[in-house]
Amino acid sequence: MEHKKVSVLGVTFDNKTKEAFLKELMARIDHKKKSFVVTANPEIVMYAKKDPNYMSLIKEADYVIADGIGIIKGSKMLGTPIVERVAGYDLMLALLDEANQQGSRVYLLGAKEDVLQSTVAKVKKLYPSINLVGSRNGYFDFSDSAVIEAVQATQPDIVFVAIGYPKQEQWIHQYMRTASTGLLMGVGGSFDVLSGKSKRAPKIFIKLNIEWLYRLIKQPFRIKRMMALPRFLREVKNEKKQVSKH
Ligand code: UDP
Repeated sequence: MEHKKVSVLGVTFDNKTKEAFLKELMARIDHKKKSFVVTANPEIVMYAKKDPNYMSLIKEADYVIADGIGIIKGSKMLGTPIVERVAGYDLMLALLDEANQQGSRVYLLGAKEDVLQSTVAKVKKLYPSINLVGSRNGYFDFSDSAVIEAVQATQPDIVFVAIGYPKQEQWIHQYMRTASTGLLMGVGGSFDVLSGKSKRAPKIFIKLNIEWLYRLIKQPFRIKRMMALPRFLREVKNEKKQVSKH
């Protein structure tokens, strides 16, 4: 049986294909329904496990999407497989494409100023029919609500927030309190990739599910962050043992 929701170490994922997410999210924009989208990888799940405040933010999201092959592996180990990995970057591109077809209002928030400017230029070039209502770099005082008000004033249909976890989800959560519409999605380092500043792994790495290996080769300083993956798999094994005991 296919489960609609799949829980992995306390985080509840929506079990859908990229196409299904895309259709549902665009329909919500059409109906002026607001959406908080989290794309979670093992690193984020491990972080949520030790930070109850962050875990409760994620629980309030409308969608939690399985980004990272580790999550898919974990869901299989638990006997409740998730249909596919949906990389945040890929979903962002698919949403940009749809937004281009519909002439939607898009706001780009995050990354360093030069990266942001290259991202804006790229979006204008690749998606000329998008109504780009605003952009701002990701270096501001997160406790100040001025940025929230400024973004809301542009009445965006979609806001991509490229600030990295946990800050992006914390900021989106604040935004959602006073927003009546809009899809908000944390996209981490996606502007760095879209702008060309950092490269996504070659297709063969993605196909073999070893995109993490490419990242490690390119950015060895990530090793500490990546150690979350084996820890995550160990925790999933423990969870499985607990479940089968009961
Ligand atoms: N960033 C930001 N504001 C901050 C900290 C980070 O805008 O206060 C940006 C940073 O410039 C980068 C992105 O957030 O573009 C985080 O990228 P990372 O690769 O760490 O995110 P991941 O995809 O791994 O979550």
